[in-house]
Amino acid sequence: MKAKLLTLVVLSLSLTVMTYAQVLRPDPEPPELKPTGKGWGVAVEKGAKSNGKPGGGGPGGGGGSSLPCGQYGIQYHGGPIMVGTPNAYYIWYGNWSDSQKSILEGLISNLGGSAYYNINTTYCDSNGNFVSNAIAYSSSNSTADNYSQGTSFGDAGVKAIVSDAITSGKLPKDSNGVYMVLTSPEVKETSGFCKLYCGWHTHGTIGGSDIKYAFIGNPSQQCPNGCQMYSGATPNGDAGVDGMASVIAHEFEEATADPALNAWYDRRGYENADKCAWTFGSVSTDSNGAHYNVVLGSRKYLIQRNWVNASGGYCSMSY
Ligand SMILES: [Zn+2]
Repeated sequence: MKAKLLTLVVLSLSLTVMTYAQVLRPDPEPPELKPTGKGWGVAVEKGAKSNGKPGGGGPGGGGGSSLPCGQYGIQYHGGPIMVGTPNAYYIWYGNWSDSQKSILEGLISNLGGSAYYNINTTYCDSNGNFVSNAIAYSSSNSTADNYSQGTSFGDAGVKAIVSDAITSGKLPKDSNGVYMVLTSPEVKETSGFCKLYCGWHTHGTIGGSDIKYAFIGNPSQQCPNGCQMYSGATPNGDAGVDGMASVIAHEFEEATADPALNAWYDRRGYENADKCAWTFGSVSTDSNGAHYNVVLGSRKYLIQRNWVNASGGYCSMSY
């Protein structure tokens, strides 16, 4: 009796489901997501779609007809891009050797002006500006932090590190800068380094100014398989730092094309570099067995491709 009743219930339930299944159609498009700066999207909150510049967006949040560049597989949502020559700032957090620093200084000093970074010039805003193929970096654009937040901290700790560097006068307060907190191998970022991301970028108010900043951790101890491409021979002889070079390029491209997380991203909430994450195109092998795909200055690097917002849109190492 009980079993029969159950059968009946199950039967009527499945009938109900079947009926609904015929009425409801799958959503033809997945829900629209916005970027977190960490490489994945989150649902757009109610009312958040209209946070673009007034008058800047047509239906669907696009840039309207005034946009001086196309939207190829990635859409403009009305927010600012970084224009002119942005300054890159490095904060060496924890224990860094000079040879490690020179690998990443060689990267950022030669990224601007490269055919690789020229990809970012395919991004524009509705005021007629384009991201420029230029980055300013000099040795005075870096400072060291001797574990002011210990060896384990979350996103607020990253912001505090940037804030300390600015308010102490070690780095200038620069709303046209991108401050990159670079941590040594033992340092943990508890919001998900090595579990959810290898690095991230965002912006926030520091000293009354809108400051763009990023976190990039050294994965060599915590997740060599997650955030490095290789653990053996790498282009500059330091697998962890060579891995960071790729993530720095990725975050800097996003920070200039989508500094406030409301300019350039696709329906999944993927920003330009997210669309090409962990793809490298044509890879060469050095005499020592290290893999690389670009030469910047006097050094070789293996860095991720970026999304070209032109000609239909595609991942590339150059434009
Ligand atoms: Zn990203």
